Amino acid sequence: MMDRYVSLDEYNTFGLHVTASYYSKITDAGEIFDLIKESVLTEEKHLILGGGSNVLFLDDFYNGLVIHINSKGKILLRETVNDVYIRVAAGESWSDFVVEMVNQGYGGLENLSMIPGTVGAAPIQNIGAYGTELKDVFYQLTAIDLSNGEKVLFNRAECEFGYRTSVFKTRLKDRFIITHVDFKLKKHPVINVNYGALHQHLYEKGIANPTVNDVSNSVISIRKSKLPDPAQLGNAGSFFKNPVVHNLLFQDLQREFPDIVGYNDMKGFKKVSAAWLIEKTQWKGKRIGNAGFHDKQALILVNYGNATGRELFQVAMQAKQAVIENFGIELEMEVNIA
Ligand SMILES: Cc1cc2nc3c(=O)[nH]c(=O)nc-3n(C[C@H](O)[C@H](O)[C@H](O)COP(=O)(O)OP(=O)(O)OC[C@H]3O[C@@H](n4cnc5c(N)ncnc54)[C@H](O)[C@@H]3O)c2cc1C
Repeated sequence: MMDRYVSLDEYNTFGLHVTASYYSKITDAGEIFDLIKESVLTEEKHLILGGGSNVLFLDDFYNGLVIHINSKGKILLRETVNDVYIRVAAGESWSDFVVEMVNQGYGGLENLSMIPGTVGAAPIQNIGAYGTELKDVFYQLTAIDLSNGEKVLFNRAECEFGYRTSVFKTRLKDRFIITHVDFKLKKHPVINVNYGALHQHLYEKGIANPTVNDVSNSVISIRKSKLPDPAQLGNAGSFFKNPVVHNLLFQDLQREFPDIVGYNDMKGFKKVSAAWLIEKTQWKGKRIGNAGFHDKQALILVNYGNATGRELFQVAMQAKQAVIENFGIELEMEVNIA
C-alpha cells in the first residue's frame, strides 16, 4: 500500500519539514514483495527509512518512495548453557530492545543503551558506543534483495562490519532491506567498562562490580548529560566519523599540535578525534543562521530552529573544508544524505 504526499516531520531527528511524494509503511515482509512485484522500486527513486536518526534530507520534498520499516516482534530462537539467540524484527526500537534484554539480565547490549533508531538500521553502520559495537552481539540477519525479491541470510563475516560501516553502506548500499536481526547474548555477562568515561562514572558511583543494569544506567546517565535530545534540538548524533590516519601523518600533526587527540587503531594507524579537529577549526558552537555545531559536542550538527537540510549540509561542508585546509584530513560523513 502506498500513500501520497506524506509528512516525514515525525520521522527525522533533525527536525526538518519534509514531504515524501510516495510513502509505504512496512509492517510485514510480504509488503516488500508486493512493492517488488509492482515494479515500484525500479520505477521510483527510493529510501529505506527506520527512525530517521541518521539521515539528513537535503530538500523539503523527497521525490520518490520512502519505505518506512515498522515491522515488530521478537522471538527466542534457541538457548544454550551460555547463550541466548534472539530474532528481532527490523522495525523494533533499538533502545526498547536493549532495555528488555538488560532487564532480563542478558549481557552484550548494555553499552549500546539509548542509541536512537531501529533494530534493522543497527547493522548498517555497525552502531557503536562506550567500547562496544553491534558486531560484538550480532549473529546473523535476514534481508530481502530488492533486485530480485530473494530472501538472503548474512552472517557476521558477510556483513563486512567495520568502524561505523558495513557492506550495506558500501558495496550493497540500498540493495537490501533488512527484515530481521538475530543476536547472540550472554546468560553470564562479561562486563566491559574499559571506556574511560564509563569506568569513571561507575567509580564515582562506588560500583566496583557492576551488573548489566549498572552499566546500562551509567551509559544512559552519561548520554543524557552529554548529548542534545533531538526532541529539543534537532540532530543526528555525530555527523562525521573519526578519521583514521597513518602513524607518520599523526606524528607530523602532533609536532605541530601537541594537544591533538588520537587513539591507536589497526597496526600503524591512529584514529583522530573529529570533535578535536572541528573544535580547532573554530566550528565548535559556531552557527550560521539556525544551522551549526553544538557548543558542548563539537561533532554534533544541530538544527537550532528552522534551518533547512541544505543549510545544515552547507555548514557541515564548510567545517569539512576548514579541516582539510588546516590539517590535510578529509572527514567522512557518518550521517546518510537523502
Ligand atoms: C542523539 C543521537 C545519538 C546517537 N548516538 C549514536 C551512537 O552512540 N552510536 C551510533 O552508532 N549511532 C548513533 N546515532 C545514530 C543513529 O542512532 C544510528 O545510526 C541508528 O542505527 C539509526 O537508526 P534509524 O532507524 O534511525 O535509521 P535511519 O536514520 O532511518 O536510517 C539510517 C540508514 O540505514 C538505512 N536503513 C534503515 N533501516 C533499514 C533497513 N531495515 N534495511 C536496510 N537499510 C535500512 C537507511 O536507508 C539509512 O541509510 C545517534 C543519533 C542521535 C540522534
